[in-house]
Amino acid sequence: ASTSQLLDIDPSKLIVEKTTKPGKLHKPEELVFGRAFTDHMLTVEWNKDNGWLAPHIKPYQNLSLDPATCVFHYAFECFEGMKAYKDKAGKIRLFRPDKNMARFNKSAARIALPTFAPTALIDLIAEYVKLESRFIPDQRGYSLYLRPTMIGTQRTLGVGPPGSALLYIIASPVGPYYPTGFKAVSLEATDYAVRAWPGGVGDKKLGANYAPCIVPQREAMSRGFQQNLWLFGEEEYVTEVGTMNFFVAMKNKQTGQKELVTAPLDGTILEGVTRDSVLSLARERLVPEGWKIEERKFTMQEVNEAANEGRLIEAFGAGTAAIVSPVRAISWKGKLVNCGLKDHEESGEITLKMKGWMEARQYGDDEHEWSYVC
Ligand code: PMP
Repeated sequence: ASTSQLLDIDPSKLIVEKTTKPGKLHKPEELVFGRAFTDHMLTVEWNKDNGWLAPHIKPYQNLSLDPATCVFHYAFECFEGMKAYKDKAGKIRLFRPDKNMARFNKSAARIALPTFAPTALIDLIAEYVKLESRFIPDQRGYSLYLRPTMIGTQRTLGVGPPGSALLYIIASPVGPYYPTGFKAVSLEATDYAVRAWPGGVGDKKLGANYAPCIVPQREAMSRGFQQNLWLFGEEEYVTEVGTMNFFVAMKNKQTGQKELVTAPLDGTILEGVTRDSVLSLARERLVPEGWKIEERKFTMQEVNEAANEGRLIEAFGAGTAAIVSPVRAISWKGKLVNCGLKDHEESGEITLKMKGWMEARQYGDDEHEWSYVC
């Protein structure tokens, strides 16, 4: 069949098979990230002759795959991470799902997996989360974490584009990242391994990008640091922190102007939805207060110098799981670079404001086009 005859994902063909064994709800305060799942999963199969087949919502269940399936050998896998929130009126809201769908398609295309119409999958996700509504706690800080996943399912050891694929979505109720309020983390700058490189795939959400990051992360933890900070090149450009984008607020050496700085989208960092949202909110609300917002390369040396000269205001990671995560210090070249917090402080002012501004839009208190009502 020619490409034009291949079917796209069609929400009107959705087949729903409800579980006959509804699971017990966990107490919200006992939720551990990514451990509990809802009753159902969403699946859509694809093959190269027909395109996307009818979508299914069915009881959460094991996959059965031949050991020769290409995902197990050549890592034909990509994924997304996004959340559904319940607002005060009990309505379920997604946060900028168009961004996740665009990134999902880019990741899939890069590893020869099929792409799809973003709005079709958003429609299906809306149906799915409405069915799982009872699993979404309505308290602030709680949400339903969604994990869209795509894998190559062709049974072959031949290295080539998969002739079949499975898109599935599972959902996990999650609580606040910091249940008792912010806790600033300390980082170890990793200089012996790189996460991504120019021309590579660090800007795609491929499973294959994540497994190699665990050893450096474990190394950092073994020395008492919660996360590692990824540097790049001889210049030691600061790129990302663990699996979050990184922001630093500092005063300009020459002018003294306050600047919020993050690495640019040059292909070596993931294009975070939170990063984009933080930049947008900062441009809207911090620029009028005299801040300059910059997407540019910056080095660990520059951060260190700002810290030494008392110009470093605060630093934080940004990602879907925690929204923002304040950083206390960075271990680098045998010294500890202090990121602007006083000993008794767990967060800087900008970090705290950002969390509030983001949550207001996620939970629909600040009604905005970023919030998609299901
Ligand atoms: N960087 C990496 C490497 C990540 O895995 C994530 C989480 N998806 C992020 C940054 C943050 O992205 P987002 O704000 O879309 O969650």
